[in-house]
This record gives sequence, C-alpha cells and structure tokens, in this order.
Amino acid sequence: MSIETLEYDVIGLGFGPANLAIAVALDEDARVRERGLRYCFLEKKADFEWHGGMLLEDSRMQISFLKDLATLRNPASRFTFLNYLHQKRRLEPFINIGTFTPSRLEYNDYLAWAAGHFAERVHYGEEVIAVEAQEERGEVQRLKVTTRQADGRTRTRLARNLVVSIGGQPSIPEAFAPLRNDPRVIHSSAYLARIETLCAEREAPYRLAVIGAGQSAAEIFTDLGGRYPNAELSLIMRSPALRPADDSPFINEIFDPGYTDLIYQQPEAMRQQLIRSFSHTNYSVVNLDLIERVYQDLYLQRVTGKVRQHLLANRQIQEVRAGVEGIALNLLDRQHHAREVREFDGVILATGYRRDGYKRLLEGVAGYLGEGEVARSYRLPSREGFHPGIFLQGCCEASHGLSDTLLSVLSVRSQEVVDALIDGRLRPQAVACA
Ligand SMILES: Cc1cc2nc3c(=O)[nH]c(=O)nc-3n(C[C@H](O)[C@H](O)[C@H](O)COP(=O)(O)OP(=O)(O)OC[C@H]3O[C@@H](n4cnc5c(N)ncnc54)[C@H](O)[C@@H]3O)c2cc1C
Repeated sequence: MSIETLEYDVIGLGFGPANLAIAVALDEDARVRERGLRYCFLEKKADFEWHGGMLLEDSRMQISFLKDLATLRNPASRFTFLNYLHQKRRLEPFINIGTFTPSRLEYNDYLAWAAGHFAERVHYGEEVIAVEAQEERGEVQRLKVTTRQADGRTRTRLARNLVVSIGGQPSIPEAFAPLRNDPRVIHSSAYLARIETLCAEREAPYRLAVIGAGQSAAEIFTDLGGRYPNAELSLIMRSPALRPADDSPFINEIFDPGYTDLIYQQPEAMRQQLIRSFSHTNYSVVNLDLIERVYQDLYLQRVTGKVRQHLLANRQIQEVRAGVEGIALNLLDRQHHAREVREFDGVILATGYRRDGYKRLLEGVAGYLGEGEVARSYRLPSREGFHPGIFLQGCCEASHGLSDTLLSVLSVRSQEVVDALIDGRLRPQAVACA
C-alpha cells in the first residue's frame, strides 16, 4: 500500500452529477481561488457516465434542462446546458425540437462534457473503501481517505473536509438476496451492461420478468419488447396499476430550491407527512406518455392475437427458486387470492435504490459523529474536537425533501455547500450536537 501525504482542503467522494455540480461551484467561486483551496474528487468508475446501465435510446429527462449544473445559480456560467449546445453547434436544431426535456443520452453527453473540464481534479477508477480520523492529542483536523484501484492497489489521501456524493446503491428485495450473484438476475442499474450477455439471441423466445412499477420498470419492459420480438415478457408489480408521475406546475414547486428551506424548517412529523404526500412525483410512478405507450402495445397484441407482454399487477412475490430450467417466482395475486408459479430465463429488478451507503463508508469515523440531524448546510453533526466538515449529498431526503436525490436543486445546493466549506475553513468548529 502506498501512503500519500497529499493533503486537500476538500475531497469529493464520487463524481456523479452532485459532485460535478460542486466542482462547478468551486471553479466559479472567486474565494476558492483567492484562498488557493486544494480539492479533488474520487470516482470508482473508469470514466464519467450518468446511469449508463439505463441510457436507453428513447429515454428522456424528467426535469427541464434549465435545472442543469449552473443556470439557477448563475445563468451566465459557461457550464450551462445552453452553452454546451452552443459549443457543440446544436443550439438552433435543439430549439427547433421545442422541448425542455432532452434525451438522457444527450444529458449524459452534457454532463460528460462538463466533467471533461475537471479531468485534472478527478481520480477515476478509485473506489473509496474507508475514511478514518487522524487524531492528535484528542483533536481531529484531518481525515484519511483510502481508495482501491481496479488492480487491487490502495492509495490514501488526507482531507480537511469531505463531500460525500456516492448516489444510491441497488435495492435488492429480500427474496432475491440469495440470487445476488446469479447471472440471470439483473438490477436495472446494470441493465444495458448485462442484458445482451444474458439474452444473446435476438429472435429467441426468452421468458423474462421485470419487477417494479416505476419509470425504470416501464422503460425496461418497453425496451425488451423491441429488443426481443419473440420474448414472453411479464411486468410484475405490487401496485394495482401503473400510476402517472405528477409533474404539474403547482406540484413541481416542491422541486424549487426555495422549497428546501420550507421542508427543513418543519417539525419532523410534518416533514415526513409532506414528503409522503408528494412521493407520487418520484416513486413508483411513470411518465404518462410511457404509460400510454405500454397500454397501446398491450392493446395491439390483443388485436393481432400475438400476446407476449403481460402486466401482472397486485402480485406479491412470495418465494424465488433458482433451478437449471429457470428462475421460478411464486406469486400471490392479492386481488383474486390466487397463487401461481411462473418460470423465467431472466429477471430484471427495477426495484430502486438504497441511500444509506454513506454510513458504511463513514464507519471509521462513526464514533466522532454526533446524533443530531444533518445541518441545513448538509454538514453532519460531530463531537467536540472533531473539526473536518463532512457534507452529504443525495441521502438527505428525510431532512431536505424530495429534490435531494434528484438533479433539480444541484446548482443551488452546490453553492450552499461551498459557502459552508469556506466558512468552515475560516472558522473550523465542531457542530454542537445533542
Ligand atoms: C435511470 C435514472 C434516470 C434518472 N433520471 C433523472 C432525471 O431525469 N431527473 C432527475 O432529477 N433525476 C433523475 N434521476 C435521479 C438521479 O439520482 C440523479 O439524476 C443523479 O444521478 C444524482 O446524482 P448523484 O451524483 O447524487 O448520484 P449518482 O449519479 O449515483 O453518482 C454517484 C457517483 O458516485 C460513485 N461512487 C459510488 N460509490 C463510490 C465509492 N465508494 N467510491 C468512489 N465513487 C463512488 C458512483 O460510481 C457514481 O458515479 C435518475 C436516476 C436514474 C437511476
């Protein structure tokens, strides 16, 4: 193991859109330059990619491109989506398309273009595996961050502050946990990377199940329909029907940056009530146009008599058994109180993400952290004598609201974190906690 003595004011863990927005905000903040802040980012992927496993050709953004990395904070920034279009000489044709929601392929290209400006600051191919405190006479000023590279070698760096933006980790339903390593079970996050290895023949009559009722489930169900014209496909869900995502204008106000203050100020019970009552904007919902497309596809199959796509609603998966012939799902139809066993050659889990990965990553400093909740500035509370700031991005939905896991507030949130980082550097202080 090589020990590096390189010390940074800020290390960003992960380099997805959240820390990319932090990079942009740091780059544009004159105070950062004046004070010569040293910062870098550590990313486990070999290169920048935004949810590559789901970059389906006809998938679209679910928010306006105006909620890009910079516009809401600084419309004159060189990192806006509009400047990206201008640089790529596509501004006019994009205007002619007349949309606020570009394809995900294009948005990934935009993010990768922006990330390209920070190539010197991002260490790709390094997975952060541990964070430890460097304690001297009872005080902690620095953290030791250890990464593992693809070849197994480890590296360490020292940091005075961390911004932890590691995104979500695939959520695997308990029944599928024993099959985690079975190549026939694929989480949606790895869909494009693995589907053609699992199902190599386009014309084969594969039996495939998609589990879930959200946008990814519906997108994969539709994609499979086009990719394998003879496959028998089942979309299996607990809910009684595919529900539309509510993105109407009054509802959309909950994704405005100002709404974060409103949510944060509420007493805990009211916060949770608000988050629950707006969850139909983001969880287990599908864009209306995609719902209509799925319905039309199913209808057309009734007309032609070649029914190969099935929507199995109200189903609870009671047991999963892996055999040589396939993966058998024991399903309870909760509406008709009927049970059945269906066998599949492959199962795609569009079952979402967990957001608690930061806890495992920060295990080494857990004893220094306080019990109070994360601050409005996204800083974790810590005990007396622990000075590094640890900021969380993308896992503060319970305290900061539904926009926290999304792209909506990135440009403004990143400035809030940069402001707190700069204040913290001038006046390093432990956050008081209960
Ligand atoms: C298919 C899909 C489509 C979506 N579309 C939209 C949309 O249209 N609009 C919207 O607002 N939101 C959308 N989202 C929500 C999504 O969470 C955000 O778009 C965005 O990706 C959040 O950025 P992030 O940086 O917080 O997390 P991520 O994008 O997940 O990035 C986290 C990064 O950290 C890296 N990482 C993780 N662990 C480590 C480690 N230990 N060491 C080093 N690096 C690590 C990961 O490789 C990754 O690059 C979508 C989500 C999915 C899955």
